[in-house]
Amino acid sequence: MRFGTLHGRFVLVRDGHALDLHTASGGTLPWEPIAALERWDDVTAFAAAADWTPAVPVADTDLDAPVPMPRQVFAIALNYRPHAAEAGFVPPSAPLVFTKFPTCIAGPSAEVRLPEGRVDWEIEVVAVIGRGGYRIDGADAWAAVAGVTCGQDLSERAMQLSGTPPQFSLGKSHPGFGPTGPVAVTPDELPDRDDIAFASWLDGQPLQHGRTSDMIFPIPDLVARLSAVCPLLPGDLIFTGTPAGVGNRMQPPRFLQPGETLVSRVDGVGEIHQRFVH
Ligand code: ZN
Repeated sequence: MRFGTLHGRFVLVRDGHALDLHTASGGTLPWEPIAALERWDDVTAFAAAADWTPAVPVADTDLDAPVPMPRQVFAIALNYRPHAAEAGFVPPSAPLVFTKFPTCIAGPSAEVRLPEGRVDWEIEVVAVIGRGGYRIDGADAWAAVAGVTCGQDLSERAMQLSGTPPQFSLGKSHPGFGPTGPVAVTPDELPDRDDIAFASWLDGQPLQHGRTSDMIFPIPDLVARLSAVCPLLPGDLIFTGTPAGVGNRMQPPRFLQPGETLVSRVDGVGEIHQRFVH
């Protein structure tokens, strides 16, 4: 099952068509995205038998973020060994966690205004929490996840890396710095939920590529470790980390410029496109 939001309303998406959950369920299920995710079992039961007659044509560029205003956004630093190495760190022994404040979350094709500084890319697979919970066992963790989507953890490096010790969250939270989408896909619909391939391009040039099977802390482990401290709520997002190939570690370093377009793809999910402006 593929789901997202259209004009702020929860929709199921199939073959270029969107089905409004609230309308198609005769008003029995919510239109608000987090309220819908709070009824996850009912939503999946409805989707299994839904009548698609009232669906409307939709393009990826019409869709908003799968969860436009999540309550909690977790992000994981250094979750791939080659990226930890390029950043000059040994792989962490526990997940290194920061937040992207929720106002940075944007849809799959938002224009992003570049703030002053040095803005870098980080393609990431993003887990969307459905059922959620507190102290979730790793063996049950996939059941807490409604879907996965494609995201960019856009990062302004001057702010991120200034100060001793540095702080991650603010420099990664400018408006538009958390584009996600175009839809979220339930784990059962992926060819292999533990081995998801993804890649990105800047103006057609390859930037980063990876597979989630290379994560130091895989998605179920992240769900277990995060929920050991914070109850995970429906609609929460987990940005699961980026592989090697960030601009900050290129020789010479390379940052996003106005007029450039960043394309990011998660196999089985789709693509997001960000155009950068002054
Ligand atoms: Zn990141």
